[in-house]
Amino acid sequence: MTRKFLIAGNWKMNGSLSDSRQLVAALCAGVPTTAGAKATMLLCPPYVYLPTVRDWLQGSPIALGAQSLADKDGSGAYTGEISGAMLRDVGCSYAIVGHSERRALYGETDAIVATKFQVAQRAGLTPIVCVGETLEQREAGQTRSVISAQVTAVVEAAGVQALAKAVVAYEPVWAIGTGRTATPEQAQEVHAFIRGMVAARDATIAAGLSILYGGSVKGANARNLFAMADIDGGLVGGASLVAADFLEIFRAAA
Ligand code: PEP
Repeated sequence: MTRKFLIAGNWKMNGSLSDSRQLVAALCAGVPTTAGAKATMLLCPPYVYLPTVRDWLQGSPIALGAQSLADKDGSGAYTGEISGAMLRDVGCSYAIVGHSERRALYGETDAIVATKFQVAQRAGLTPIVCVGETLEQREAGQTRSVISAQVTAVVEAAGVQALAKAVVAYEPVWAIGTGRTATPEQAQEVHAFIRGMVAARDATIAAGLSILYGGSVKGANARNLFAMADIDGGLVGGASLVAADFLEIFRAAA
């Protein structure tokens, strides 16, 4: 199976409209329209910029996604929330669920993440489900049990077949925004573990599953990470806000 890389930029709560405009213009200029063959670039700006960024992306192969979504289907009295259908409506094809910042700062449990995963799929979005251990958990030798619980919560709720239309992102919490990247070997070990867990339930789904690495990915380390057998792209925070850096990461995959 030919691997197709996904390079996703998570802008988090950063930038202004004019910063975003400059960033998107530079990315559109740097990503050839034929780029989709080996790698897809995905931008996940803040909610309020989604329709505007969608318009700027017209004619480019760059995809649009959201950083989160409501844990409810349909519409209703959920003040402040954004539904999957609304995200589709403004041009999103992906939604990140279970980012470690959502888990740590906004109380998103494994169960909520599993619900959001299913809500995203029911709305026609591809969920990018984030999993990862903290430094304390790694040092206590709990990396596999933490990842296993996070992946299992989604698989048991949604069924393994649901992973045919989903992406997993391994993001060790200790590597996010810290400048401390997992080595390619450390990342590969966890990616292979995740693929193995899925393969124990369905080998075909596991073989086709896209597993991204996230945590201080930079132009300088991207090539070595993407050379690993089970790393199918990156979920990039800080470096996705600088066009030259994000394009360098993209080129390492494309
Ligand atoms: C992230 O936002 O998911 C992330 C990995 O951030 P950074 O690349 O800045 O570590």
